[in-house]
Amino acid sequence: MKPSIIIAGGGIAGLSTAIALQQQGIQVTVYDAQDPNVTPGIGLGIGANAIQALDTLQLKSSFIARGQSLSSIQFISARGRKLNATKFALQDSNEAQYVSILRSELLELLRSKIEDPSTIITGKKCVDVEQNENKAILRFQDGSVAEADAVISADGIHSRIRRQLFKTARIRPAGYSCWTGVAPRVPDGFDGTFATETWGPAGRVGIVPLSDRRAYWFICINDHMNKRTIESLDGLIDHFKGYHTAILDILRASDPDQISYQPIMDLQPMPRFTKGRVALIGDAAHAATPNLGQGACQAIEDAVILAKELGRQATVEGALRRYEQLRLKRVNKITRISRMLGVVAQIENEFITSVRNIVMPMLPASFNNKQLEFIYRVDFND
Ligand SMILES: Cc1cc2nc3c(=O)[nH]c(=O)nc-3n(C[C@H](O)[C@H](O)[C@H](O)COP(=O)(O)OP(=O)(O)OC[C@H]3O[C@@H](n4cnc5c(N)ncnc54)[C@H](O)[C@@H]3O)c2cc1C
Repeated sequence: MKPSIIIAGGGIAGLSTAIALQQQGIQVTVYDAQDPNVTPGIGLGIGANAIQALDTLQLKSSFIARGQSLSSIQFISARGRKLNATKFALQDSNEAQYVSILRSELLELLRSKIEDPSTIITGKKCVDVEQNENKAILRFQDGSVAEADAVISADGIHSRIRRQLFKTARIRPAGYSCWTGVAPRVPDGFDGTFATETWGPAGRVGIVPLSDRRAYWFICINDHMNKRTIESLDGLIDHFKGYHTAILDILRASDPDQISYQPIMDLQPMPRFTKGRVALIGDAAHAATPNLGQGACQAIEDAVILAKELGRQATVEGALRRYEQLRLKRVNKITRISRMLGVVAQIENEFITSVRNIVMPMLPASFNNKQLEFIYRVDFND
């Protein structure tokens, strides 16, 4: 008999898992603490690995139609000099390799694929989980409970379930914070096919075209003494007044009420993320800093692999354990590379910045290709 599954958290990880389980004919219910999340201004870049995972969820074509396909990212100095460029392309593929989209748009797309609307129940905050040899029980803040053969914890980086079951897990501040926003048009000089990241002593600024000639931006600024030093869009414009004009243009074109701020952190790589009938997925299991743009991508990969194992293993415990074995090495490596990249990208010292800017153009394409092969090349068919 097929197992029944409860998912705590209806973000990218939770919804992707629900779709993948639905495809296996497995009964699933998703509980989320909030009503549908409409956080403003969070853009996501989704790489070839996750596009392939979306294909197995039968969402690839609608996803590509809704997003913006990009072919490369250019790295630029504060004054606008091109330092290096990376193509989002595996050597032997002509498929879309990198597509940008707003998080709210991706969530909407995922929700549209859930066949039975009663699968998603909002306003239910999970507080803890219990299990015995027959079932797993999820308890909610309102005193109610739900039970099933397994509980999937997809409740994000601050996961309640992880805190309960994996007491030594540790969230690590990255030492910088991120502002994000959306502008109604790409800056002059952008044709919608490439993104940019500008690296300089005042911080790092990304500009990423979206569909309909819009663009999102992100700004990472080091936290000094863990303090937020800039309070508004005007403050950001002033902070980057020495940077090239595309940055000032996109900030000036953005709606000040649609920007968001968050300190960046990750989860120290964990040796396990399942316990009996409970599995962590997505950020709950392996939150990474956003430097590789892989958090949501890995969450979608998790979903496909976890559902496949639940569909084919004889016991839920066996399926969760197998999922963990298949995922641990890859996701932990991504967390480590992301963190390291952040350290290099956030260097403030003017001398070290200028050395870095001399070395970057010399990096051979093979260096980037090796990283891309590792991240983008996946096989969901084994
Ligand atoms: C600035 C920034 C830029 C990023 N850029 C990219 C990118 O370009 N590409 C990429 O792939 N990734 C990117 N990421 C990472 C990506 O956003 C996350 O990895 C992804 O959203 C994780 O999805 P998730 O579903 O695991 O967690 P979340 O998105 O955090 O979702 C968790 C869900 O659980 C719910 N929840 C929380 N607690 C409870 C509870 N107790 N009970 C019930 N429900 C609960 C929440 O309401 C939420 O809906 C970026 C992250 C940041 C911060």
